[in-house]
Amino acid sequence: MTATVPPASPAARVATTGGSPIRAILAVTARPEVINFAGGLPAPELFDTDGIAAAFAHVLAENPRRALQYSTTEGEPALREALAARTTARSLPTTADDLLVTTGSQQALSLLATALVEPGDTVFVENPCYLAALQTFRFAGARVVPVPCDADGIDPDALDALVTAHRPKLLYTVPTFQNPTGRTLPADRRAAVAEVAARRGLWIVEDDPYGELRFEGDRVPWIAAHEGARDRTVLLGSFSKVMAPGLRLGWLRAPEELRRACAVAKQAADLHTPTVNQLAAARYLADSDLDAHVAKVAAEYGTRRDAMLAGLADALPDGSTWTRPEGGMFLWARLPDSGAYDSTALLSKAVEHEVAYVPGAPFHSAEPDPRTLRLCFVTQTPREIAEGLRRLGRALRG
Ligand code: PMP
Repeated sequence: MTATVPPASPAARVATTGGSPIRAILAVTARPEVINFAGGLPAPELFDTDGIAAAFAHVLAENPRRALQYSTTEGEPALREALAARTTARSLPTTADDLLVTTGSQQALSLLATALVEPGDTVFVENPCYLAALQTFRFAGARVVPVPCDADGIDPDALDALVTAHRPKLLYTVPTFQNPTGRTLPADRRAAVAEVAARRGLWIVEDDPYGELRFEGDRVPWIAAHEGARDRTVLLGSFSKVMAPGLRLGWLRAPEELRRACAVAKQAADLHTPTVNQLAAARYLADSDLDAHVAKVAAEYGTRRDAMLAGLADALPDGSTWTRPEGGMFLWARLPDSGAYDSTALLSKAVEHEVAYVPGAPFHSAEPDPRTLRLCFVTQTPREIAEGLRRLGRALRG
């Protein structure tokens, strides 16, 4: 027997970035008895399974050899045309050529990190921030710096001041029904953020997977629609929350040079997004009324948000605060300053009572706030939400 030498360990960036704490929690909370407010799962009973199945059947019957063949990296023209029309109808003139289809919007984030971020570059994020975006930028070797935020989101003056100190390459933001807080950046702040980006030479990555899921209030225009930010904003979209996440269909709208760079990164990542899924989605958009479907889903999510708001005051200790989102899937709560509350430590007690949430600490890229937690209000029915909050109340009192 010759002596063997072990192969090398994974790259250092794997250990420094770490796995997603949410995926770890989901594993613990997978027992069916647990009422799980932790995952960010759209309500599966609301998927238009018949419509999606019909679209796949149609595409596979009509031209199976094409549907099952390799496709272009940029994406299927029929889908890009339909996405461009939907974007234009929402007051942002867009052509098919402005878009790159991605394998979920998560892929758009990693393509942007590959195409734009050099190791050591600074990336600005919201505080708190979508976890898998933190992971993606850290993987790319970025220095991730949180921008001060309040109940309305990014503070544009603080952003402006911070640019001088850090010289960031890009700002990543989820301005509408943010993950994890559910908050929405008001129109005047969007204009101010666009102005800062234009004046300071900053890219903006505007991630909008939840904007269509509005059940209250009026739509706020995209940052990408502001004149000064047009040449420097990348808008990300996704079918995950409005159609089905298993399709893994997202897209990015970016100025030409950066879009081409992302397409090169995508060639190296997966060549292209599955042809059959793209054609089925295009077929679905042609044959079904996605807007009517989304309106139905959003109305039900509004009912579920109300169920959660109705139970929170009894479930959380006096002095707790929480957001009241006008759409999307999440709300964000903060346990009171009085008392030694730590939502990470309290999670095991919650799971003993068969209810789960995500502790807020990992969503903070700098100093974590241990009193915060994220609750998803869309996966359970109102009755289950009420029961879950009763359990949470017992766990936090017990
Ligand atoms: N951005 C945000 C803010 C998200 O919350 C998510 C999913 N949780 C994604 C991007 C990724 O979504 P997908 O890849 O399914 O489009």
